Amino acid sequence: MISQNALRHAEKCRFCFMCRHLCPIQLQTGKEVNTPRAKGLLLSMVNKGAAEFDKDMAQTMYECLICDACVNDCATGYQPPLYIREARTEAVVNDLAPQAVMQLIENVDATGNIYGVQKPSFAQEGSDVLVYIGEVAACKVPQMAEGLLKVLAKAGVSAKVLDNEPASGVMLADLMGYVDEVAQQAKACAAAINATGIKTVVVLDSYDAEIMKQRYAQWGAEINAEIITATAYVAKLIEDGKLAAKAACGTLGACHDDDRLARTFYEFAPIRAIAKAAGYQLTEMFNKERLAKSCGSAVALAYMPNIVTKVAAGRWDDLARTEATAMLTASPEAYLCLSQATPEGKQVVDLYSALAE
Ligand code: SF4
Ligand code: SF4
Repeated sequence: MISQNALRHAEKCRFCFMCRHLCPIQLQTGKEVNTPRAKGLLLSMVNKGAAEFDKDMAQTMYECLICDACVNDCATGYQPPLYIREARTEAVVNDLAPQAVMQLIENVDATGNIYGVQKPSFAQEGSDVLVYIGEVAACKVPQMAEGLLKVLAKAGVSAKVLDNEPASGVMLADLMGYVDEVAQQAKACAAAINATGIKTVVVLDSYDAEIMKQRYAQWGAEINAEIITATAYVAKLIEDGKLAAKAACGTLGACHDDDRLARTFYEFAPIRAIAKAAGYQLTEMFNKERLAKSCGSAVALAYMPNIVTKVAAGRWDDLARTEATAMLTASPEAYLCLSQATPEGKQVVDLYSALAE
């Protein structure tokens, strides 16, 4: 059912409890089946013919954010998302995936994005950098895209944004694994970016940056430009004196390290530099940087809103253990999820808009 390599990881996890306390889904649902160990055990049983991969098991495989908190903690190097993704492929191919997931896949087929709408365009001409907005910011957090573009303009950067920006493939990859359709999306996206001839691509959403930087080459979808996260790019503008720091706003905030900046890129300093330049006084949550607890992902929010809202509330609990009143983020996915559960008296801050004001 799943590859031998993925099965090898599942077989190791099924004996192990070591990362169970870190899984944000398990913490919020309290369900034993939502530990990496249980998911490994289920797939091991299927492989041995002791259980059937049915709709319930498929549902379980979708109760995961692919946040990599388990991977980051694993002293022996095992990776639950490897077998969870492959199990999702199996679920979709055999028509066992939850209806909400299938609907998102149909939306991607019909419109190119999970929301099933025409993606709003931020098209503009420019020559220094190409900004890749991504479907989450475009459809759900447009103010963050506008904020980033304003920040770049303030710094004198001539930024181009594509009209009809193609999907990066990351949403489909999280929904159904690294299947051919994802590779096709990657190739189309790389071709559109390469056609501009621009040598720097600034990627707003770290999820898009991850698939571009880590997966495109294996599909022959190389991008002939430097791919840089928007956080790293804007922090460099601040460091180079191209963006002036704002006056202190008097608010104490804590930066949320989103899953893929935290555990794919190990990128922590840029968001803090941006937050300081936006005038915030900073403190830290206990679970920060590589240990930052997930607040959810946009795709998971779209197919299991109740669970992701609880996960986001769990991240707000971390903030409540500090003196901070503001959760600071430069991730459209984190902003969207955190906004579902903002407690009274707290605020989630889009750092690009804050810096642009
Ligand atoms: S990822 Fe590592 S720590 Fe977690 S269950 Fe698997 S083997 Fe154990
Ligand atoms: S990737 Fe995250 S949500 Fe999925 S099993 Fe690991 S810790 Fe839990």
